Amino acid sequence: MSKLETTCLHAGYETVEGTTNSQAVPLYRTAAYRFNSTEHAANLFGLKELGNIYTRLMNPTTDILEQRVAALEGGAAALGVASGTSAIFYSIINLAKSGDEIVSANNLYGGTYTMFNDILPGMGITVRFVDPMDPKNFEAAINENTKAVFCETIGNPALELVDLRAIADIAHTNGLPLIVDSTFTTPVLLRPIEHGADIVVHSLTKWMGGHGTAIGGIVVDSGKFDWTTGKHPLLSEPDPSYHDIRYATDLGDLAPLAYILRMRLVPLRNLGAAIAPDNSWMILQGIETLALRMERHSQNGLAAAEHLKKSDKVEWVKYAGFDEKASTYLPDGAGGMLVFEIKGGEEAGRKFIESLELFSHLANVGDTRSLAIHPASTTHSQLTAEQQAAGGITPGLIRLSIGIENIDDILADIDQALAKA
Ligand SMILES: *Cc1c(COP(=O)(O)O)cnc(C)c1O
Repeated sequence: MSKLETTCLHAGYETVEGTTNSQAVPLYRTAAYRFNSTEHAANLFGLKELGNIYTRLMNPTTDILEQRVAALEGGAAALGVASGTSAIFYSIINLAKSGDEIVSANNLYGGTYTMFNDILPGMGITVRFVDPMDPKNFEAAINENTKAVFCETIGNPALELVDLRAIADIAHTNGLPLIVDSTFTTPVLLRPIEHGADIVVHSLTKWMGGHGTAIGGIVVDSGKFDWTTGKHPLLSEPDPSYHDIRYATDLGDLAPLAYILRMRLVPLRNLGAAIAPDNSWMILQGIETLALRMERHSQNGLAAAEHLKKSDKVEWVKYAGFDEKASTYLPDGAGGMLVFEIKGGEEAGRKFIESLELFSHLANVGDTRSLAIHPASTTHSQLTAEQQAAGGITPGLIRLSIGIENIDDILADIDQALAKA
């Protein structure tokens, strides 16, 4: 097993001599694949042989992306999908149906909160939200209908670092898998499976792609969770939509892939949030430099957080690297995300954002370039005041995604905008 920086560049792809000898990962722009014979076709559809059928289900470029991210996370397999949002949706509906429940952290990415609070309940799946900073809250919300526990590594947007190991232990004591959105940390800074997580999801749109050029998502399966206990009938009961297969028990050597294989054969095949091969290719380009970029994002993020902390125009600063748990979970750096409360509340916050020159004002994170946003009036504006408060979103909160520019230019832009605000 190679080290992380090497895995970023090599996992999942080897130049095969005698074929094209292509050094870069090839981009397969095709919708479908020819069968060798009618028998070959029947074997592929009958799962007797694995192979390419149609790009909604699989694509050779996406396959390299899946292998590379699975290797980086230390997982058994991964499934690439159209967006981080569809990755999260599929990670839930692959184990829960109407009448089931999920217990989730309440400090989520805005879109995920809306999915859990408004969309899943309409499909009969209840999500119980808890404050994740005390892991016991998860325990208290679990009941006999609960199918999984969900959290983000660094809660959005208040940037609180959760105690993954404690939450994973509670999930496992109750026979449940822990699903972790690790978008903000990437496998370079934190590998949730090493801390007990069973399923890891990412928005590849952010640091993994890294350049703000493509939307994508991925679900990584640790391959370690036991789906045979009867608690997850979607995986252990015969599936009439696919030859009555029981994913948890009928897969033989592929048993560790039960969850991710079902996700390919049921949600991806029938709901269709496939990632475009072009986007898989672009995200693979980004992953090649992920380790270098995360190192610089972390250096710049820490420097900006410390700089803001010293300013008399700033109420407080939150940066995951300041948390005492960072030595356990983020030993190699805490990334480029920080939030702060500017003195003067909402009005000063707006002025600050309008005065920035180097930072772009937009709704994204994880770009190479520095970004800024005011969550209360944008990404989290659909939430009520109480929901905002519960998620740690104060009126004057400003979120910065620190890029990989020279730190002197980043700090100079922050200072001139603070002076104007
Ligand atoms: C962006 C983001 C998502 C959603 O991903 P998309 O690729 O935009 O669909 C989910 N979780 C987190 C933490 C994110 O930052």
